[in-house]
Amino acid sequence: MPLVSMNEFLPAAREGKYAVGQFNMNNLEFAQAITQAGTELNSPFIFGVSEGALKYMGIEFTVALAEAAAKQSGLPIALHLDHGSSFDVAMKCIRAGFSSVMFDGSHHSFEDNIRLTKEIVKAAHAMGVSVEGELGTIGGTEDDISVDAELASLAKPEEAIRFYEETGVDALAIAVGTAHGVYVGEPKIHFDIIEKVAAAIPAAIVLHGGSGVPDEMLRAAIKAGAAKINVNTENQVAGTAAIREVLNKDAKVYDPRKYLTPARNAMVEVVKSKMTQFGSVGKA
Ligand SMILES: [Zn+2]
Repeated sequence: MPLVSMNEFLPAAREGKYAVGQFNMNNLEFAQAITQAGTELNSPFIFGVSEGALKYMGIEFTVALAEAAAKQSGLPIALHLDHGSSFDVAMKCIRAGFSSVMFDGSHHSFEDNIRLTKEIVKAAHAMGVSVEGELGTIGGTEDDISVDAELASLAKPEEAIRFYEETGVDALAIAVGTAHGVYVGEPKIHFDIIEKVAAAIPAAIVLHGGSGVPDEMLRAAIKAGAAKINVNTENQVAGTAAIREVLNKDAKVYDPRKYLTPARNAMVEVVKSKMTQFGSVGKA
């Protein structure tokens, strides 16, 4: 099966009150672990690739890994640019084979965010590629970009409705209190904002910073209308912990497969537990 746009599965997720996970791909082992989890649970999923990860892997390797995953698994998989910063990056990804892009214009003024997102939607839709926009500012750290919790601002439902109407995005990330990276204490999620926006627009509502959010909060977010949830940090933490354990136990180990296999296995478990929590099992 070729890579598909998020519109292949997000409308059904919205309708069926479950969420499809975006799992960020950072290297071969991430690609393999996410694909194995999806295959075992027959779940659709999204490979998220940040600009930093794109730089690390190279665009050709990134697309080849995602295409190999789709071919091997037969699952509906979207390859999605995460937090794209410009029209040019989005177009570069689409030309290389991405089936979905996010444009994060949240640091621009509301009007500029609308204008820039609209341009990308127009070009992407002409090529069958889905687009995610962002409103409000999501706190935390991702790819060495930090947003202070104090400066993170929540999305306003009225703005989300106008943003959707003017841009025609397929998915909309709204800042509702989750953060990127590792949480200090419990996140405070504003479920009322998710509910209001989901009830008013047909685009899929996206929750960023899904790592470390307690089960019952994730369930409540999905119930309120979140249909796409992003996970990256939890895989990074689990994979690195597995590597550290092997290296701490055996100072003589030098074969990368000896420590990358346990890392990959740990990530398979994380992704499977997320897919189960999100309710996407059996939905491929
Ligand atoms: Zn994010």
